Amino acid sequence: MLESYLTWLMEELATAGSSLLDLRKRVSLWYLLSAVGFAFVVFYWRYGKHGWQRLLPYVSPKVWLSRSSRTDVGLWLCNRLLLALLIPKTLTHALWISGLYYYWQKQGLTPLGLGWSTTWVMVLFTFCYVIADDFSRFFTHWCLHKVPMLWAFHQVHHSALVLTPFTVFRTHPVEGVLFFMRSLCVQSVMVSVFLVLFPNQVSLWQIYGVLVTTFLFNVLGANLRHSMVVLSYGPRIEKWLISPAQHQIHHSTDVAHYDRNFGVLLAIWDRLFKTWLPGNDQQTLKFGTGRAIDRTGVIGHWWIPMMDCADVIRHGVAKRCRNLKKRLTIREP
Ligand SMILES: [Zn+2]
Ligand SMILES: [Zn+2]
Repeated sequence: MLESYLTWLMEELATAGSSLLDLRKRVSLWYLLSAVGFAFVVFYWRYGKHGWQRLLPYVSPKVWLSRSSRTDVGLWLCNRLLLALLIPKTLTHALWISGLYYYWQKQGLTPLGLGWSTTWVMVLFTFCYVIADDFSRFFTHWCLHKVPMLWAFHQVHHSALVLTPFTVFRTHPVEGVLFFMRSLCVQSVMVSVFLVLFPNQVSLWQIYGVLVTTFLFNVLGANLRHSMVVLSYGPRIEKWLISPAQHQIHHSTDVAHYDRNFGVLLAIWDRLFKTWLPGNDQQTLKFGTGRAIDRTGVIGHWWIPMMDCADVIRHGVAKRCRNLKKRLTIREP
């Protein structure tokens, strides 16, 4: 029993380690390096030969060896193990795609028969998928801030005092499950609908289009948004794409920055929801929630949100009881 548990543990840890070399993962060695290359070119272009100095926080041992950064890595590994136990291996995207494929057909969805070439189908699929995926990420993130019960869990991501690319993994397992469900919904719905509407034209090429977009997003500095390197995309591009500087504003302790820049790829959702704030290279920010959770380890980051969530539920129930009592007293003659 113990032996098989240890084997499983070692296998999961080895998978986590090898994911650092996987081009499909955002935090892979290749994208960590390409982020440096991308920022180097931009800083050189903007600030000349001394521009590279702006990259120094990216490799600072003070940042990487800080307690906050060690907690990021601890949460990454511990959450991986916990979610591997919680989410059944049978709950795959393929299973949901095939289930939905038959469901849409039963609902009367039929092929469009437009006679489009596979290239055009791929372009349409990539466009729809990227939009749906990015909006669902934005909206889930918006809910995590606006619903007190969900904020109790999302505060884990905001408790980082310094940002490193591993801060992206700094989440509570409950948030991990939420984002897993989000990805399951978006991928299954999009792929199954396209399979019905464009039969025999759904091939790896369509998925390839999405992979290319993700690849570009990762190559062009996705990892810089969780780093101490301040890089804006400039006034014109900032309006359309979320820059590292914009996401750093999202982590800022400044009250004026609360609930700003929820987006991941596109800035248009934040502009529509009036939560957009452009970043700039000169901004200096402090990070964290200012609460005790900022200085705790993995156990604290698992435990405190559950206590906070229980508090929110308790207060909610007490408030409802008070309101009900008030209404009943008013009705009494
Ligand atoms: Zn957030
Ligand atoms: Zn973040």
